Amino acid sequence: MSEKRDYYEVLGVGKDADAKEIKKAYRKLAMKYHPDKNPGDKDAEEKFKEINEAYEVLSDEEKRSTYDRFGHDGLNGQGGFGGGQGFGGFGGSGFGGFEDIFGDIFGSSFGGGFGGSSSRRRGPKRGADIRQSVTISFEDAAFGKKIKVKINRSEECEECHGSGARPGTSKKTCPTCHGSGTVQSVQRTPFGNIASQRTCSTCDGEGEINESPCNKCHGKGSVRKTKTIEVDIPAGIDDGQMIKLSGQGEVGEKGGPRGDLYIVVNVQKHDIFTREGYDVYIEMPIRFTQAALGDKLEVPTLDGKVSYTLPEGTQTGTVFRLREKGIPKLRSNSRGDQYVKVIIDTPKKLNEDQKELLRKFDESCGNKVHEKQRNWKNKIDTFFKNLKK
Ligand SMILES: [Zn+2]
Ligand SMILES: [Zn+2]
Repeated sequence: MSEKRDYYEVLGVGKDADAKEIKKAYRKLAMKYHPDKNPGDKDAEEKFKEINEAYEVLSDEEKRSTYDRFGHDGLNGQGGFGGGQGFGGFGGSGFGGFEDIFGDIFGSSFGGGFGGSSSRRRGPKRGADIRQSVTISFEDAAFGKKIKVKINRSEECEECHGSGARPGTSKKTCPTCHGSGTVQSVQRTPFGNIASQRTCSTCDGEGEINESPCNKCHGKGSVRKTKTIEVDIPAGIDDGQMIKLSGQGEVGEKGGPRGDLYIVVNVQKHDIFTREGYDVYIEMPIRFTQAALGDKLEVPTLDGKVSYTLPEGTQTGTVFRLREKGIPKLRSNSRGDQYVKVIIDTPKKLNEDQKELLRKFDESCGNKVHEKQRNWKNKIDTFFKNLKK
């Protein structure tokens, strides 16, 4: 499929266009490209779909703001949107909700158009979900923490308590549809009369009319606010995981429930520790004398220093395990382990005295103490002996 075009471009409106402008542009284009007017014209059909998709998003305040922030990807990520193929209300190919579109396009043009309201459905509607990402430290991810997260979401308007009507007034039942939001119409066609149901144009399908909209929310019933929410980060959470806070999303419409809030957790990298699942890994430089003689090591762990007895003759790259010193497992009492890899830190910039000591040391070693090197030399000798034959 080709690149999706910008929705504003599709409707030919500016980014700052208001609801009325968007609706007007949509109507004009939808009439032009409507499949009934262009029978058999595939291009027109595609255009019509594209126009409807753009309108579906730009006419919905929540979807529009998501689109403005994240583009097409934002909408796909939220689910409920089948990128380019069919979407709520229009039923994919075949234009399932034909009456609905038809009613909207042609109905409102003689009904006088009402409001600029985005919803064409009556009744309670669940609020949209919100995604908010937070960045926490490695340690906070390991042990959990209560953090405060600022989110911008819609809240019920205090002035009108969500009704959208100015206090002391109330919405009136729509006189055209008597509150149902839809009207029956009969069309005369060469095939006879066809009855169809369309969205009431007087009330835009709301079933009621808001004659005196609330001053504060302009009839919307909700206002945007920045809220600080306390989030309990559970011990053991990992980078990229999400915490769902049910009912903490955008406020619903007409008494509908709130959407959900998803906190996406990003975990910062640590200077010392790396993590894989619930296990923690570190690399620890040791002196070759420590490796040879053995030593008591102080190993850093997430719980503090732990003492570990390094045995005599430890090889570089040896990994030892500290049980249950890793990350606490989510919803469990057990923990991962910590793996410590020791790396021999070969001394550099030795002075003459030190070099002399080491030369003497080397001489005293002969060929007895370096086991790996001895075995390796034996193999090499055999190899060359066989090669000469
Ligand atoms: Zn009505
Ligand atoms: Zn209000």
